[in-house]
Amino acid sequence: MTVVQKYGGTSVGSVERLRNVAHRVASRAIDGEQVAVVVSAMGKTTDDLLALARDVNPRPPRRETDLLMATGEMVSSALLAMALGDLGCPAVALTGAQAGVFTDETFGRARIRGIDTWRIEEEFSAGNVVVVAGFQGQSPQGDYVTLGRGGSDTSAVALGAALNASQVEIYTDVQGIYTTDPRIEPKARCLKDIAAEEMLEAAQQGAGVMHPRAVELGLLYDMPILVASSQAEFGSGGGTIIRREVQMEPENRVRTIALDRDVASVTLRHVPDRPGIAAQIFGPLADAGISVDTIVQNASELQLTDLTFTVTDDDWERTQEISKPLAGDLGAANVLFDRDLVKVSLIGTGMQSGPGYAATMFRSLSEAGINIELITTSEIRITCLVRADRGDEAVRVLHSAFELDQEV
Ligand code: ADP
Ligand code: ASP
Ligand code: MG
Repeated sequence: MTVVQKYGGTSVGSVERLRNVAHRVASRAIDGEQVAVVVSAMGKTTDDLLALARDVNPRPPRRETDLLMATGEMVSSALLAMALGDLGCPAVALTGAQAGVFTDETFGRARIRGIDTWRIEEEFSAGNVVVVAGFQGQSPQGDYVTLGRGGSDTSAVALGAALNASQVEIYTDVQGIYTTDPRIEPKARCLKDIAAEEMLEAAQQGAGVMHPRAVELGLLYDMPILVASSQAEFGSGGGTIIRREVQMEPENRVRTIALDRDVASVTLRHVPDRPGIAAQIFGPLADAGISVDTIVQNASELQLTDLTFTVTDDDWERTQEISKPLAGDLGAANVLFDRDLVKVSLIGTGMQSGPGYAATMFRSLSEAGINIELITTSEIRITCLVRADRGDEAVRVLHSAFELDQEV
């Protein structure tokens, strides 16, 4: 049997923790399993490398930024293989490229196109544990590329699919997937399971515990993903399983609440309301590779309309550069930029079948004196944008309003 495990940054954040991971991995290898381990960079290494890059160039080129960031995972994979060797467990460390992870050429957020597993299989045959540097791959030009922040999860699920593993094990610094980020609400409960669709929405809406594309791949390949603590014993029954089908909980239809701090909004005021105006605005943004999230257009008055949209902090500067002159060209009265917002989302497949969730959400927030700036929904999600300094409180208010701290 093939086991694919992934250990996150905190779990490999020190020599002691690396040794702990080595013990866990070795114990699975002794059981006769073929083990592939994906690792993140140690602790805050990726942040430190990015800060270094900005110290030498405030706008570092994307290609070299990826090359630099990729070194973080090389360090941790090499060290883990060494620690395994020290335990008498034969292991090799491979970069993403050496492990056959091929991607497109989008620096900073590359997509995996395929994994050629021959090298890994060869190392398995030689009796080695294979430690793979997560978060990275090789572009068609042979460049190092990274998969986006948190992308080691995606490396692991992609490897699991390529190696036909029966599930992928993601080990992290919490017990599993909770009803909301336990750092925001200590009363949050760890879930036994969560539907992949729900986890995908939560991940896309800021629940940083899983990389969205990892969940997407899990759905695509029907690959169950176990999320558990890197301190907990394997097989102890702890952790959360993310899978396609889960048993519906009979009562509580809100499964989890996500908070996204990575939001910036742009409002074009008093834009002449004529056909084609939206295309004129969003065309240039799309051409610049900026993905726009929420879009709200107010009802037009005297042929003038207000148009608000949100982007991520990463795209913030370029969005400003593009939308300022654009607002002038389109005849907008002015353009407002706001970075002081967060998104709070209720997520649950069960919300489709029951009314009243939105009403309870809006009422609870208003009773707490939290103003809602924008509202958006999907079939299984209701999202409100609120002021950044009220975000954590909004999460706690909703967690309590929907009684997520209570077992159903
Ligand atoms: P790793 O380094 O292991 O990849 P991350 O920091 O990426 O770990 O993800 C784990 C963190 O995700 C937790 O420490 C927690 O604060 C945060 N988190 C956010 N939402 C949730 C949630 N719903 N359940 C559990 N953890 C969450
Ligand atoms: N080291 C990378 C990051 O910090 C990737 C990961 O941890 O998954 O984003
Ligand atoms: Mg992570």
